Amino acid sequence: MFTRQYNFFMKFLFGPVPSRRFGRSLGLDVIPAKTCSYDCIYCESGPTTSLSIERQNFVDCSQVLEELGSFMRDSPQGADVFTFSSAGEPTLYEPMGELSAAIKRQYPKIPLIVLTNGSFLWKPEVRRGLLQADRVVPSLDAVTAKCFRKINRPHPSLHPEQIIEGLRAFRKEYKGQLHIEVLLALGVNDSREELCAIAKAIESIKPDKVELNTVVRPPAHAGAKGLNGENMARAAKFFSSFNVEIVGSFHTAAQKSSEENIDQKILETVKRRPCTAEELAASLGVSQERMQIEADKLLGEGRLIRLCFDQKEFLGPAG
Ligand code: SF4
Repeated sequence: MFTRQYNFFMKFLFGPVPSRRFGRSLGLDVIPAKTCSYDCIYCESGPTTSLSIERQNFVDCSQVLEELGSFMRDSPQGADVFTFSSAGEPTLYEPMGELSAAIKRQYPKIPLIVLTNGSFLWKPEVRRGLLQADRVVPSLDAVTAKCFRKINRPHPSLHPEQIIEGLRAFRKEYKGQLHIEVLLALGVNDSREELCAIAKAIESIKPDKVELNTVVRPPAHAGAKGLNGENMARAAKFFSSFNVEIVGSFHTAAQKSSEENIDQKILETVKRRPCTAEELAASLGVSQERMQIEADKLLGEGRLIRLCFDQKEFLGPAG
């Protein structure tokens, strides 16, 4: 049972949320919302408000560790994994290496994953800061300059060649699992030419796995559309010489959770990314009926809004 109301006060943690790839993932968020080196058209967290390449110590490691300690003490279910994933780019956090090392010392059995846009791996200090992670998942959505600018809308100082070079260097130094995520948006980076070029770049990086993704939640840019299953399968053929996986459905393992403060938990979860009612029910360990009642209440109070995307209804934060 959640006996404390830490969900009200969690500043640097979120969830655990249902992750399509990792199960019950406790998010670590050490970046101010929408501070990122990219402004991806598909971003689930809305448009970037601070397009930055400046790495900073946004928060003291000790504060994050203290909050993590409270969560792990008070939550009987804990988490399947810890994931650095935020509404911004995690490698902009300067003491990433220091914080990761402290987390691994305290929780050596819980895998630590970093989801990153990969835009700073050409910096040796950023690569060093990621060496403690069990798995690093950088993105590589485009390799031609035109496509890169179209889908990732990066900080003007960033270039695809430099990013690919950084990924190659990281692969040489990093002993953990390196998965490269390629997110495809319909009509943007799914042409034969771009897919061939991405596959060629990935061949030179030699990751353990390629994860093919598409737009499955309400995106920052209304024009960003996902690929259907047939087109994803077609795209996957370009990566058939790698260990490729089309990532797409949520883990829905039954989870028990206190139903206390469920409305706050819903609001905390959708603040990071819109979710369907089914995903929220699975994440928070409540029945779908109970979730529907809570969602209707929050919608009626104007604290949640409905977002339609790809013929599915998501719940997002109001305002
Ligand atoms: S998807 Fe990731 S990299 Fe792209 S804008 Fe959002 S937070 Fe930044």
